[in-house]
Amino acid sequence: MQVQYQGVSKSFGSTEALAPLDVTVPDGKFMAMLGPSGCGKTTALRLLAGLEQPTAGRILIGEHDVTKLEPRHRDVAMVFQSYALYPHKSVANNIAYPLRLRRSAAAERDERVLKVAELLGIGDLLDRAPRQLSGGQRQRVALARAIIRHPRAFLMDEPLSNLDAQLRLQMRVEIKRLQRELGVTTLYVTHDQIEAMTMADLIAVMRDGHLQQLATPAELYASPVNLFVARFCGSPPMNILDGEVADGAFRHVGGTLTLANSPVRGPVKLGFRPEHAEFADLGGRDVLDGEIYVVEPLGNETLVTVRLDGQLLNIRAPAGFDRPVGERCAVRPALGQVHLFDMQSGDALAQAGARGPSSAGEPARAGI
Ligand code: ATP
Repeated sequence: MQVQYQGVSKSFGSTEALAPLDVTVPDGKFMAMLGPSGCGKTTALRLLAGLEQPTAGRILIGEHDVTKLEPRHRDVAMVFQSYALYPHKSVANNIAYPLRLRRSAAAERDERVLKVAELLGIGDLLDRAPRQLSGGQRQRVALARAIIRHPRAFLMDEPLSNLDAQLRLQMRVEIKRLQRELGVTTLYVTHDQIEAMTMADLIAVMRDGHLQQLATPAELYASPVNLFVARFCGSPPMNILDGEVADGAFRHVGGTLTLANSPVRGPVKLGFRPEHAEFADLGGRDVLDGEIYVVEPLGNETLVTVRLDGQLLNIRAPAGFDRPVGERCAVRPALGQVHLFDMQSGDALAQAGARGPSSAGEPARAGI
């Protein structure tokens, strides 16, 4: 079902955890709330679950205003980082718990438990206690318990943070597949931009309680509305250089880059992603002069750090790149892919050759 935040805010005393938030998650979509610690993402999720009351605003699930409803009447299922399993109940009884609360018939209950457990690949663990399970298996039990209820929405708060890197990758894929298969609207809180980018249909980037941008992962990556979003999404992050635009060119101590149709003048920040630059001949046009600082071969590609006037730039180079550290080099950003940001506010400016920000100034509604 569609989930809507309408001007929802939350203050704890004098701390504004969430500034008025207007977001619509379309039915069946997966929205990630992404941001650093303390940005208000958990608060937004807890407000939807009914674990907190908003200071102002309304929350709708489908057509229903649930703002004043008790958590148990909202029909949403939460999955936490901590799993929150009952230690003395078997896996089967943990999964069946929501059905017991609803007093479902025992035969139907057993059948559904088995079905959901098999869906999550834990069908052979039903008799075990949670302490006899690995972290990944426990998280599957928590997911099974959420799924068995057929809730109107799944709310997930950093559900993978307790797992090791390998398992996180595997569960990421499985949660995404399950969510698409079940088609249940999902809100997923994370500070991990890779999780958000890989799993979500839509990402809401938050900072200090304020929504920065609501967009698809591709839009967010291609057209960040400000420096914060630009730097938060993408790894390694976007390279940012301080310089000045004059006579249709960006001037920096490391070099001059021609900007086609740039409407701005004066001091700006110019950004380009590590994959939107290549190594070129020294002394060429539209290059930045630097020095190879670190070379990291990753097998499929090489990450090269270049030092430029005391600043470090990240460049993705092909596998097999083997220039020596300390060598002078010239970096040529793809001019159609550079981003310009206001020096003071950090807001994206109309870009030189690249696409402009898509959601700046528009109401934060689903762009899909
Ligand atoms: P994290 O990733 O660390 O959980 P978050 O983005 O989820 O962070 P929130 O937990 O939503 O952030 O907190 C947002 C702000 O509200 C923080 O400044 C936090 O200290 C404050 N806050 C949250 N809950 C309470 C509370 N119960 N009482 C007082 N302040 C709170």
